[in-house]
Amino acid sequence: MTKYNFCAGPAMLPPAVMQKAQKEFIDWQGLGVSVMEISHRSSDFLALTTKCEASLRRLMNISDEFEVLFMHGGGRGQFSAVPLNLHLDDKPAVYCENGVWSKGATSEAAKFTAVESINVRDDEQQNGQFSIKPASSWELPADASYIHYCPNETVDGIEIFDVPSHPSAPIVADMSSTILSREFDVNQFDLIYAGAQKNIGPSGLSIVIVRKTLLEREGLAKPGILDYALEAKQGSMYNTPPTFAWYLAAEVFEWLEANGGVKAMEEQNIAKAELLYSYIDSSDFYSNKVAKHCRSRMNVPFWLNDESLNDKFISESKEAGLLALEGHRIVGGMRASIYNAMPLEGVQALVNFMEKFAKENS
Ligand code: PMP
Repeated sequence: MTKYNFCAGPAMLPPAVMQKAQKEFIDWQGLGVSVMEISHRSSDFLALTTKCEASLRRLMNISDEFEVLFMHGGGRGQFSAVPLNLHLDDKPAVYCENGVWSKGATSEAAKFTAVESINVRDDEQQNGQFSIKPASSWELPADASYIHYCPNETVDGIEIFDVPSHPSAPIVADMSSTILSREFDVNQFDLIYAGAQKNIGPSGLSIVIVRKTLLEREGLAKPGILDYALEAKQGSMYNTPPTFAWYLAAEVFEWLEANGGVKAMEEQNIAKAELLYSYIDSSDFYSNKVAKHCRSRMNVPFWLNDESLNDKFISESKEAGLLALEGHRIVGGMRASIYNAMPLEGVQALVNFMEKFAKENS
């Protein structure tokens, strides 16, 4: 039976990438050893990192005005790194809050710097559905060390499709669960970061795309491994990087380029999301609580209207080969994460199962 993994992260990776990695596992490029057993400073590994960065730059159209860093510590590592590097003594960091992860970023930053948080949700205006105000109406203060927001809230299933702007403060985005899922104009941002474990590769690695001029900020005293300027100077090798995760990221980027790049992924992601949301909307057995204009294409939370059937739904979906559909513990219900690696057939299999389950339990 084909199994489909809907885990929010660590998430499924493209099967073609996993098969290639399996083949190369103990003998990479004829070296007679695994890629995880060689020096990160060897010419073979350095060739991999050069290729990996070039590939990401092509995929996201990243100009020379930006540095690309491969760091440790996932998304939360960056929750700390951002304030430590971008702090200014005389201006607050502004955090736009729209769900669980943006709030998490706010509380981490508040340990290090003065923070002003802004609620960008607009739930009352949408008959109780979760909703987001247009970015152009966010009340951003005139003075800020930076503006932080989260374009895709993985837990809440809320995605923001417009980009805030500010006359002077840099725009920082936590793209952990949306990077490479749709086209972004990187030039609208000053710092983009993402934990790898959704659309990039294994957990632990984080990618940081930072405008070079921001590296001149002194920020606060910080651990070397979270220091952007130091990592940029050292080619992301101030200390031993997570080499196997970096290798797999390079393979995922190669797979993306061979499969039409971000534009093709975006088209497929729209089709997958439409299939699932339109079924949920047409059903009186399931519901989604997010206003249509800000529904996530990557993480689709849904609720059974009769929640006493939750355990049955989870156990029968598992038997049907549909894995990890439990909602996040904070919000409950169900959640299907449908990142780039999830094929349309996986979403169709989920919809077929949901239809059958609804019929049998109505
Ligand atoms: N930001 C977002 C949007 C996330 O979805 C997550 C994890 N799911 C994080 C940050 C935290 O990432 P990590 O667990 O790698 O620290």
